[in-house]
Amino acid sequence: MLLANSKCHDWEPSEKELIQKTITEHRALQRAKWRLIKADNRVDFSYPYTIGDCVVLPEHLLAAAGSSDARISLAKTLLHEHVHILQRHHPGLFDNLYKTWGFRRATKIDMPADYEERTVTNPDGLDAWIFSCPDGTFTMGLFLEGSKPVKKAFRVSGPDEKGAYVALGDPTDLRKISQWLFGVESCYHPHEVHAYLVSDNVFDREKELS
Ligand SMILES: [Zn+2]
Repeated sequence: MLLANSKCHDWEPSEKELIQKTITEHRALQRAKWRLIKADNRVDFSYPYTIGDCVVLPEHLLAAAGSSDARISLAKTLLHEHVHILQRHHPGLFDNLYKTWGFRRATKIDMPADYEERTVTNPDGLDAWIFSCPDGTFTMGLFLEGSKPVKKAFRVSGPDEKGAYVALGDPTDLRKISQWLFGVESCYHPHEVHAYLVSDNVFDREKELS
């Protein structure tokens, strides 16, 4: 199993200014307390994520944020990660919501051996869930292909008497499943679906109102 590992950089004054400007521009960000870590692009697949109450931002997100469109994308990322921090502070709070979407907790999911060792751990969603939709029952995740994490879904059998499932056969592209999860492509964990629904909606509505 691969675990996230960061290499951090100091903030440039211009980057601090950019973050401040982004937060000031968007009401949805203004009242949160922000603890941000700037990470090297070469680690953690350049993904943003959270550690405790800190948001880890890969530096490419800052470099790109010169235009107002790019700042909206940075703002979406900040809010998305802030939702993950709230999820971490209130474990289980959203379980009933996730169940209405078709998710169920699993005590354990046995993956095919060659995928087990290629599983990429996402610190924003560590517990095991399975998902049922009209296409079947699946486990989803991120798996390393070459040097890239790829989102995939596997059909599962189970549960056994202990609540464990076994992932079966060849994986399918997770995007086929996302139609049952409001079109969120990164639907490999209910926390991800939740965080995308909040951040996308807030900024789409903000745009409509402006
Ligand atoms: Zn996320």
